Order: sequence, then C-alpha cells, then structure tokens
Amino acid sequence: MIELFDKVLGSGKVVSDPAALQAYNDDYSEAEAVTPSLAVLPTTVEEVQGVVRVADEHRIPLTPRVAGTNVAGLSIPAAGGVVVDLRNMNRIVSMNVEDMVTVIEPGVTQQQMRDYLDSNKIPLTLGYSLGPRRSSILANCGLDGLTNRSLKYGSMGQWVSGFEVVLADGSVVRTGSWALSDIPFARSPFPDLTGLFVGWQGTTGIITKAAFHLIPKHPLNERLFVLAYSVHGAFEAMRRLCRLETCDDIGGLSWPTGKMMLGVKRPHPVPEQGEPRFFLYVDLTAEAYEEMAYKKDALRKVLDGLRAEGEKYEEPLDIPTLVALDPRMGKFAEFPTDLDFLTEQGGLTWVGTYGPLSRFDQTADKGIEIMVRHGFAPAIVSRPMKGGHFGVLRFVAVFDRKDAAEIERIKAVNLELLCMVTEAGFIMYKTPSWALREMAAKLDPGMVALMNKTRAMLDPKGIFNPGKLAQ
Ligand SMILES: Cc1cc2nc3c(=O)[nH]c(=O)nc-3n(C[C@H](O)[C@H](O)[C@H](O)COP(=O)(O)OP(=O)(O)OC[C@H]3O[C@@H](n4cnc5c(N)ncnc54)[C@H](O)[C@@H]3O)c2cc1C
Repeated sequence: MIELFDKVLGSGKVVSDPAALQAYNDDYSEAEAVTPSLAVLPTTVEEVQGVVRVADEHRIPLTPRVAGTNVAGLSIPAAGGVVVDLRNMNRIVSMNVEDMVTVIEPGVTQQQMRDYLDSNKIPLTLGYSLGPRRSSILANCGLDGLTNRSLKYGSMGQWVSGFEVVLADGSVVRTGSWALSDIPFARSPFPDLTGLFVGWQGTTGIITKAAFHLIPKHPLNERLFVLAYSVHGAFEAMRRLCRLETCDDIGGLSWPTGKMMLGVKRPHPVPEQGEPRFFLYVDLTAEAYEEMAYKKDALRKVLDGLRAEGEKYEEPLDIPTLVALDPRMGKFAEFPTDLDFLTEQGGLTWVGTYGPLSRFDQTADKGIEIMVRHGFAPAIVSRPMKGGHFGVLRFVAVFDRKDAAEIERIKAVNLELLCMVTEAGFIMYKTPSWALREMAAKLDPGMVALMNKTRAMLDPKGIFNPGKLAQ
C-alpha cells in the first residue's frame, strides 16, 4: 500500500512507522483506539485528489483529520486504512476585509487565525470554540460546532459561505456562490449543496477549502460573571438576555465546571450548602462607552427583575476583578484558549446536545441527578445560540483513560444521559455512531433513508471515514 501513496505524494509525506502511527489512533474520549495502516500528509488539492483516486480504486478507507480534538472518536480510523492528516494544508488563502469573508485550508488553526488577524490589524473577528488553540477552524465548520459568537450567528456550519471539496472520484467541486462568483459571499441562491458536507463528519468528501464569514471586531469588550443560586435562575436570565439582543455571548457553567476551572480536579458531586449553582458569563462588545454602559445596565435590569421574582444572584464581576481574586481566571478572558483543566487528566467526554431553551431547566435537573447517581460531578456547559432559537447543553466528565473500570462507568452514564436528552427532544451534536445507533428508533425513517442514499451517491465504495454516522 505504501508504494501506491508514495507514487502520488513522494516520500516524506507518507507515515508508516508503527510508533508514529500511534499518534492517529485515539482522541480524548472513551472511543476505542484503532491504529491506521498509514497516514498521508498532502499539501495541495492535487495531492488530495491523487490520494482519493488511489483509495477509491483500491477501496482503502480514508479518515480525514487535523488535530483530533473532536471528543467523539470521529477522527479515529474505525476501519483502519489511511489517515489523511491535513495539518500541513494550512494557508489562509484569501482575506476579503470589505466583504468580510475569508478562504482557509483545513490545517488553519484557531490560534493561527487569531495571530493573522491581530498582526495584520484586521478589524474583523470570528467565533472561537473552547477547543484547543491547535484545532482546525474548517473541521469545526464541517462538524457544525459552536463558538463564542454562536449566540448571534448560530453554529459554525452557518458561518460557511462555500466549500471546495474533493469527491470520491477525485473531482473537485466548489459550492455556494463560489460556483460562479470569485467572491464566495454566500450559500445562496443556488441549491444549498454546501449542506452535503456540514454535519457529515468527513463521510461525503474531503474539504480542501472553506470560505466563511468574519464579523466586525468592536473596540470595547467586556466579560462579566454572574453567580446564580438556582438552575432556573441561571437559564431564565439566559432566556431573557437573549431577547434583548445586547449580548455577544452568554454561557452557563454549573458549579463543578467553575470549581474545575479554579483547579479542583474532581469536585464533589453535591454542592456545599449555600454554594451558587451556576456561573453565567456574559460577553458584551461596543463601539462606544455609552453603548457599553447601556448594555451593562440592561443586564442589571434583567437580574433585578428576576430578583423581584425571588431568584438570587451576586452582582456581576468583571475579569480584572476575578483575575485579581484568582489569576487562573485569566485563562477564560481571551480566545482562543486551552482549557487544560478539561484535558490534563487524559480523558474527556460529554453528551453535548443542541436543544430548545424552554426545556433547559428540566433537562439540566435530570442530567444532574443522573451524573450524581453515577458518582460524577455534574459539570454542565451551556449557551444559547442563534438569538435563543436553540442552545447547547452539554454534560461533561473528565476521566482517567488508563482506568478500564472508570471507562465503563463513563459509558454507562453517557448512555443514560443520551436516553434522557433524546426523550426531551435534544440532539447530540457531533454524534458518535454509538449514540446514533441508540437514537435510531426515534429517527425519522425518511431522513435515515435519504442520508443513506446521499452517502451512497457521493461515496459509492464507502471509502470516506467508514464507521462514522453509521446506524
Ligand atoms: C477542551 C475542549 C473544548 C472544546 N470546546 C469546543 C467548543 O466550544 N465548541 C466546539 O464546537 N468544539 C469544541 N471542542 C471540540 C473540537 O475542539 C472541535 O470540534 C475542533 O474544531 C475539531 O478540530 P480538529 O482539528 O481537532 O478536528 P478533528 O478532530 O481532526 O476532525 C473532526 C472531524 O472532521 C473530519 N474532518 C477533519 N478535516 C476534514 C476535512 N478537511 N474534510 C472532511 N472532513 C474533515 C474528521 O474526519 C472528523 O470527523 C472542544 C474540544 C476540547 C478538547
């Protein structure tokens, strides 16, 4: 097999050393490790085309990968074969400041984009995920992930205005307005074929470029923290703040998440008497001080209104005050960031869902009960998205990946959480195949049939990331 890929790529871009291949066999999650036979590191679209043609001809499974930080086993080569490591395709191909659209390759990382925008003094920004600095922006667009600007602009797939993709026969397609215009300004108005590659976990083609929208960067920005003393109080404040349309981001972290941020490795599952239940953080940006003052005032009024209804909150605290109290809070002040407190124990997993804000309180309460019963501190990370039309609610657990018994407990708690959230109408995003199989009975059969037909049409021999999105 090595000779086939050597011929396309030249040596130096094919990894066959068993020790080096171990780097591609797992991720942070409890998903089973599988080592590929080879990894290839193309640097051009033509090389990706060559790799795909060889794989298609010889029916060799291909798993695209950049940093492998997806926390769902999605870049583990479940069927073996070849990992297509795209980290060296890392050019910011174009930056159109006037139209606020950029074109990037798969290997462009969150930190790289931040550095580029800062060093070129470009007055634009993007949504950053809480994922590591080294993670790929394009991969998260393909996974329809979430960022610190999802409140206004939705999940990451919605930022994409077009993709360039290598299909199973080795041909290349450009989607969206890019099919005709040299400026990939929008997914509209042709049929939205970009959607054939959003949410498909690399099973429909290898994306070699993404065009996506940037947004204005305002000169003033502040992050305020509010301690809330009930689950309902946290989510009701979130819902009311959404309707004001004054916040750039609102996050809700349950008390164990907050403690983990402050260095408590395994917080006790039950809160201490009188302890706040949620930390809300609210990001505000503004062009002028008066605008910022208005937005802060609006936040205070929402909290006062809820206090009058019996809820309890502390006064909002800003980052400099928090950093003065504990320098570790600085980690949470700037994006992108590395949330080491989530990754330093080796294992990280979650049942991360998108769902309706109206059901956050009851779903969080049930999730807390399940996690505590299984002996896990109920770490929750949540945020409203797309103006509050939906949001993310994720139940997070850290674990020791060398501890087989703990992995079994993780699987059990995740399964129970999944059943509960599915019943509540929430959907696990970046859905691992184990979860999809559990949901199968509830999925609309028409949707399943259409997904299967689409996949068979785009990838008749099943070479792209086999085992993923599989019922
Ligand atoms: C601590 C922590 C916090 C996180 N917080 C967030 C968060 O707030 N929001 C969020 O959305 N995510 C979050 N994540 C998950 C993760 O960081 C993102 O999903 C990230 O963008 C994935 O990038 P990656 O380079 O690791 O992709 P990989 O894991 O390498 O790949 C992800 C998937 O995309 C496919 N793929 C990769 N490149 C291509 C391509 N070019 N064409 C087709 N398919 C491709 C892969 O096969 C795989 O299915 C977090 C992760 C960690 C560890």
